[in-house]
Amino acid sequence: MELKHICVAGSGVLGYQIAFQTAYYGFQVMVYDVNEDAIEKAKLKFDQLAQAYKRDLTALDESLAHTKSNLQYTTDLAEALRYADLLIEAIPENPALKKEFYTKAGELAPAHCIFASNSSTMLPSQFAADSGRPDRFLALHFANEIWKHNTAEIMGHAGTDPKVFQTVEEFAKAIGMIPLPLHKEQPGYILNSLLVPLLDAACHLLVNDVADVQTIDKTWMLATGAPLGPFAILDVVGLNTAYNINKMRADLTEDLSKAKIAQYLKTNFIDQDKLGVSTGEGFYTY
Ligand code: NAD
Repeated sequence: MELKHICVAGSGVLGYQIAFQTAYYGFQVMVYDVNEDAIEKAKLKFDQLAQAYKRDLTALDESLAHTKSNLQYTTDLAEALRYADLLIEAIPENPALKKEFYTKAGELAPAHCIFASNSSTMLPSQFAADSGRPDRFLALHFANEIWKHNTAEIMGHAGTDPKVFQTVEEFAKAIGMIPLPLHKEQPGYILNSLLVPLLDAACHLLVNDVADVQTIDKTWMLATGAPLGPFAILDVVGLNTAYNINKMRADLTEDLSKAKIAQYLKTNFIDQDKLGVSTGEGFYTY
C-alpha cells in the first residue's frame, strides 16, 4: 500500500520532529493539534529544526523550503484525517486522553488509514479496539532528535495485519529511519527494556555507596566501549524524568530502594534545579 498523506497528531516535542522529518522526505504532512496556540508554537519550531538539519545533515535551503511547503496545519480533526493514509499519534502520555483521541479519530479517518502510536510506555493492544481498525493499529516509536537518533521501533499487537506492519517498516525507511521490528508487544520496546535496568543498577550502586558516579561510568565505558556511562545518559534523559519514574514506582510498590533513589535525586538535583544537560548541570557540568 502506498502512503502519501500523513497526519501527525500532537505537535509537541516529538510530534513536530516526526512531522518535519516526514515532510523533509517528501510526504504531504498534516499537523494536528488541539488549539491555535499549539499550532503557532509548532510553526515557530520550523526555523530551529531547519538550522539543526543544516548543521547535522547539511540540508540545503531548497530541501528545507520544500519541507515547509509539504507541511500543513489544522485544529480540526476531521480535516486533519480527511486524506490520511497514515496517522502518527504523538499526543501526551495519558491513557484516557489517548483512548478518547483514538475513538474520535477512528470514526473520522478513512477506513484504509493506518494508525501508529508513538507512545513510550503504552501498548498497541490498549487502544487497538478503540480505533475501530485493530488490524491496522500498531506502535511506531521514535527517539528524541529523530534526525540524528534515527531509530524506529515498530511493535504490533497480536491482531496487527503483517502487511500493515511491513508497510510501516517501509515507511520508516522512506523517512530516513532504521526500522527495528519487534515480534510481540513489550513494555518499553527494545531500547528501554535494555536501558532502564542499566540506569536502575547504576543508581543502586550510587545510593548504596558502592562506588562514585565517575567510577561507575568509567567502568561501563572501559569495559564495553560505550561512549557514555549510565549517569551521563541520565543527564541526557533529564533528571526530572528519572526522579518521576523512581517516585512513581516507589509509591506504587512501596519499594524502599526506589524511594531512596527518588529522595537522592530530589535532594541533590531537583531541589537545586540541576536537571542534567538541559540546565547545564546534573551529575556532570555542561
Ligand atoms: P508534548 O507534551 O511535548 O506534546 C504533546 C502535544 O499534544 C502538545 O502539543 C499538545 O497540545 C498536544 N495535544 C494534547 N492533547 C491533544 C489531543 N487530544 N489531540 C491532539 N493533540 C493533543 O509530548 P511529547 O514529549 O511530544 O510526547 C508525545 C508522545 O510521544 C507521548 O506518547 C510520549 O510518550 C511519546 N514520546 C516522547 C518522547 C520524548 O522524548 N519526548 C520520545 C519518544 C516518544
